[in-house]
Amino acid sequence: MKTYLSLILILVMNYKCHENETLPKNIMTNTILAEDTIVKKIDPFVLHYDAIVVDTHNDILMPIFLQGAEINLDNPHTQSDFIKWKIGGLDVQVFSIYVPQRYKSGHFNYVMKLIDRMEEYNINYSNFFTVVKNYDELIKAINQGKFCGILGAEGGAMIEGSIEKLQILYDRGVRYLGLTWNTSNEIGISAQDESEKGIKGGLKPFGRKVVEKMNELGMLIDVSHLGETAFWECIELSKNPVIASHSSVYSLCPHYRNLTDEQIKAIASTGGYIGINFYNKFLDPSVSSNNVRSIHNKYKKDIKQIEAEYGSNLIDFNHRRYKYLTENKTSEGTSVDILINHIDYVVKLVGIDYVGLGSDFDGSIYTPNEIYDASCYPVITMKLYERGYSEEEIRKILGGNFLRVFKSISK
Ligand SMILES: [Zn+2]
Repeated sequence: MKTYLSLILILVMNYKCHENETLPKNIMTNTILAEDTIVKKIDPFVLHYDAIVVDTHNDILMPIFLQGAEINLDNPHTQSDFIKWKIGGLDVQVFSIYVPQRYKSGHFNYVMKLIDRMEEYNINYSNFFTVVKNYDELIKAINQGKFCGILGAEGGAMIEGSIEKLQILYDRGVRYLGLTWNTSNEIGISAQDESEKGIKGGLKPFGRKVVEKMNELGMLIDVSHLGETAFWECIELSKNPVIASHSSVYSLCPHYRNLTDEQIKAIASTGGYIGINFYNKFLDPSVSSNNVRSIHNKYKKDIKQIEAEYGSNLIDFNHRRYKYLTENKTSEGTSVDILINHIDYVVKLVGIDYVGLGSDFDGSIYTPNEIYDASCYPVITMKLYERGYSEEEIRKILGGNFLRVFKSISK
């Protein structure tokens, strides 16, 4: 236990330092001779830890508030925490500010408590963690080798029909708002209500005011969970890029939470961003979640031993883990290749500049076999590399695309 804690300490203290987000350090190449040509070969894992990796949706605050999970411990039952993010090479996490359905009232007060907690983390873990409100703060923190948090809100019911409360969210650092969750609210009609219950209506008059105010503030409109009618109204109304923080591709997996080709094109036309959701139900139409837990448990148990063997040598650890995952591939559950198919699909449809990672970790989701928790982002980088993506393209998918949008609304 002690050895493991000191490993964690070494990992946390050595958070990587980025010189510049657009001019990557040229450290990840080694040269091999092929006949008379010099071929540069990238080690995808070195590239991964050098790149700025961003995840635009995570629900860890839910198990923290409801089940007593701790952000600074390697919780056995959460998909994410500081330890897993560190091993996974994550640099920026957007934390979802979300009110669980069990709370029937007092949403805004609950949200204030979540933000209070994030502010406590900002102080208590300031040696390696910081909550940022704009792009300049983010780049400064990354250059100091820190892990960054951004606040993103999910479900417009939390502003309780009040523009003043929206302003308070912004003032306290919230930089995107998902206009609805699965349930409709004063802002508009959700995807679930529209597609499952046939409720029509799109944006309500208050919703239009909210969109205008968010434009004025520089707060991103998040259309994940939003009904299609309201979606198209947002595209028309918004002057800023529109994002889907955690949604996947409808053409590959027809679910109301996913985006149609026309929606993906519309988001791209605003200069926006789509964070692909890792939930296997949104990725794989033939999913059976039954065995995922046992696959993950086996992988986690075996890989913990590999992790202990390699200590803080994350590059070699990742090569060994990837070998293990390849050798122990199973036809059950959902393969990470299907997650990559969704990224690929968006790239082929609208180009490389609009897609990223929006895991939804700890939002009661089952994930692809090989992505058993937040320590596994490097597996995605290796898969992208194997599909033929260039270093520059991989950097865009891992975080560059969201950073471009975040920069565009930063004040
Ligand atoms: Zn969600």
